[in-house]
Amino acid sequence: MTTEGLTVLIPAEKIAARVAELGAEISRDLADIDELTVVCVLKGGFIFTADLVRHLSIPCRIEFIRASSYGTHRASTGKVMLDHHHDPHVEGKHVLLVEDILDTGLTVTRILEELRTHNPASLRVCTLLDKPSARTTPVKADYTGFTIPDVYVVGYGLDAAGKHRELPYVASLNA
Ligand code: 5GP
Repeated sequence: MTTEGLTVLIPAEKIAARVAELGAEISRDLADIDELTVVCVLKGGFIFTADLVRHLSIPCRIEFIRASSYGTHRASTGKVMLDHHHDPHVEGKHVLLVEDILDTGLTVTRILEELRTHNPASLRVCTLLDKPSARTTPVKADYTGFTIPDVYVVGYGLDAAGKHRELPYVASLNA
């Protein structure tokens, strides 16, 4: 389907079904813990996190960390900036980091390094999308929604220069 310069890659219903499956899988795997600290990576992870936590049957605390690697351009700057004015409260906690997309892997690697300095009890990564062919830093998610080719995508939280985050589906931008 093509909509105003966008080609839908993953329709809303497919995302909803997969997010429910991920929630059930995470809830099963972590059934023994008392509380899960979900760390949402802003900005792109906000919709995925909001939907995912409503499918978890474990009591949660939800924290936010802001990472930027792209600015307004579509090529990675190679640098990841983290918002340091914020304590993610992960010491001694079971942590699930929730990302929109794993691309080069730099952002998640940098955030994991940062979170580990706060000594969490455990640390897992859940990403909605994975582009394994774009990876430059070896990192794997514990939970992945969809594996996609190396194309620039928008929607369901992901933007292009601030636009398209609100779309209920994931789409690629037409050339
Ligand atoms: P990485 O550090 O793994 O290269 O990139 C992770 C971040 O880059 C993501 O959290 C996201 O903000 C941005 N990014 C990577 N690929 C895409 C993409 O296809 N579309 C959008 N909108 N952002 C992307």
